[in-house]
Amino acid sequence: MSNFTNEAARLETARQDLATANRILFNQGVVDAFGHVSMRHPERPDQFLLSANMAPATVTPGDVLAFDLQGNLLGNGGQKVYLERFIHAAIYANRPDVLSVVHSHAAAVVPFTIVKSARLRPVCHMGGFLSGIIPNFEIRDHAGMGSDLLIRDITLGQHLAQSLGQSAAVMMRGHGVTVTGGTLRQAVFRAVYTQNNAQIQAAAMALGEVTYLTDAEALAADEANTGQISRAWDFWSSQTQA
Ligand SMILES: [Zn+2]
Repeated sequence: MSNFTNEAARLETARQDLATANRILFNQGVVDAFGHVSMRHPERPDQFLLSANMAPATVTPGDVLAFDLQGNLLGNGGQKVYLERFIHAAIYANRPDVLSVVHSHAAAVVPFTIVKSARLRPVCHMGGFLSGIIPNFEIRDHAGMGSDLLIRDITLGQHLAQSLGQSAAVMMRGHGVTVTGGTLRQAVFRAVYTQNNAQIQAAAMALGEVTYLTDAEALAADEANTGQISRAWDFWSSQTQA
């Protein structure tokens, strides 16, 4: 195949994978009518792929659009785009290692963005990637006391990306969470297990004193889990084709 054909084939595969990721995240209860998942463009690191503005469960490969790292839609399709696309744009600009981003309002996670003394921490091996301090982005520091809490421009996106720093995820006070990955599959896996860890941690906190993973345990568990991501993806993916 020519280079052009190879590039076109890789882009088509990326569009299909992104549509699958949207359906997985809906099936796993991470997103509902809102929330979105993106991936860096496979051929153009200064661009990313994200669907048009629609419920994630309905995304098809043909709905996937390309954006630049300022959040501008490329091409002249005139499609409706997600208001919060700047989350993705700013993180890709700030983190060359990030190849995929999931933003959700996952209900199990939001309480950990609101209660100052309740920080999301790894409580089980599947949440190992949450090691260290997961930052909690306070939009009031940048948008004042009367914002709608949404990341509606690139400046707010840049503030969020700075808050994320080198972490795997950033909590967003009163709003949700944004999770990153070195691959699309890893970002999806982490988004699912961020919610899972939050559910287990909240249940444990209600019972009594919680034993958290040590940083060394969390890192070791994360390394072990990284080798198992395809098993989860293949299973979750098969469920989207039913
Ligand atoms: Zn949001």
